[in-house]
Amino acid sequence: MKIVVLPGDGIGPETMAVTVDVLQAASHRFGLNLDLDHDIAGHESLKRHGATVTPELLAKVKAADGLMLGPMATYDFKDEARGEINPSKYFRKSLDLHANIRPARTYPGMTARLGEFDLVVVRENTEGFYADRNVESGGSEMLITPDVVVSLRRITRQCCERIARSAFELAMTRKKHVTIVHKANVLKIGDGMFIDACQRIGREFPDVAIDDVIVDAMMAHVVRAPQKYDVIVTTNMFGDILSDLTAELSGSLGLGGSLNAGSDYAMGQAAHGSAPDIAGQNIANPISLILSAGMLLGWYGQRNGKQAFIDAAAAIDRTIADAIAAGECTRDVGGSLGTREAGAAFVARLQAA
Ligand code: ATP
Repeated sequence: MKIVVLPGDGIGPETMAVTVDVLQAASHRFGLNLDLDHDIAGHESLKRHGATVTPELLAKVKAADGLMLGPMATYDFKDEARGEINPSKYFRKSLDLHANIRPARTYPGMTARLGEFDLVVVRENTEGFYADRNVESGGSEMLITPDVVVSLRRITRQCCERIARSAFELAMTRKKHVTIVHKANVLKIGDGMFIDACQRIGREFPDVAIDDVIVDAMMAHVVRAPQKYDVIVTTNMFGDILSDLTAELSGSLGLGGSLNAGSDYAMGQAAHGSAPDIAGQNIANPISLILSAGMLLGWYGQRNGKQAFIDAAAAIDRTIADAIAAGECTRDVGGSLGTREAGAAFVARLQAA
């Protein structure tokens, strides 16, 4: 399996270095023969190539089997004409990575303030309220007068149906329960179509129970009793916000794994951003990126019927759970280790497994 590795901005280089160590340990332990191809994107690429991402990089990623994308300073990238392209958007759109799978679970050894839970947010990734990806060219946020802005939200039946299918397929491997999160009381046509598409696809999965919750109420419900949920399917921006909440409820934003998957490509990417406030201090939690790398291996294994990759993904999950239970983790999740030291502890566990 060839994986292109892009460390990214802020805490990206620190957390990606540790993630690469874990991937190499998994490769050795499970005989994966991983080929990691290191390249650059984000600020580093802007300096060297005049753009945060280049068409050559995209071609390289398309020829590989997977991509690991570090967190990017997306807020800094404002003008595409000056090469300031949001790499996350660029790959999601160019590779048609329609499903963003974001698990959130509690771990033994950490205080679970809201009780134990284990859920997955399945977020549509290619349209919705995202000005940088829902029109063919230009942006969909318009300055009408200096004081008036109009932002467009695009919802298509095709994208609703394919994200629904991803959610129901995932639900079949879990507790067979899908919750549709929407705002159909206000966005009656767009979210009405989203609910309708989810229910239609749901009929193909008669064993899966379906309910739906309005997004604002969901914020209260998920904080009150996250264990009521298993697979949550929602549109792009609601999923972005909800999955940060569920990751933080599980203990830290630094725990949120994230896989962006399409029919041909997949990209592992931490759920959090570049966290410039803690960059370069060896305190960032690398778990989010490591879990995302594990999800990428699992995706590749499922797709190609390669059990060693599925086993490696499960071993990475177990390693993280065991390390947290033993307190071998960073401060944000109750440990006392730095980023590098936590990584060394994970590698040692994986080697011993
Ligand atoms: P960006 O502009 O790239 O989105 P941000 O700082 O605005 O960056 P996040 O990176 O998501 O947004 O960070 C939100 C908060 O969570 C910050 O206070 C940050 O320090 C903390 N945080 C994010 N990721 C981690 C991590 N891996 N480990 C520890 N804390 C984290």
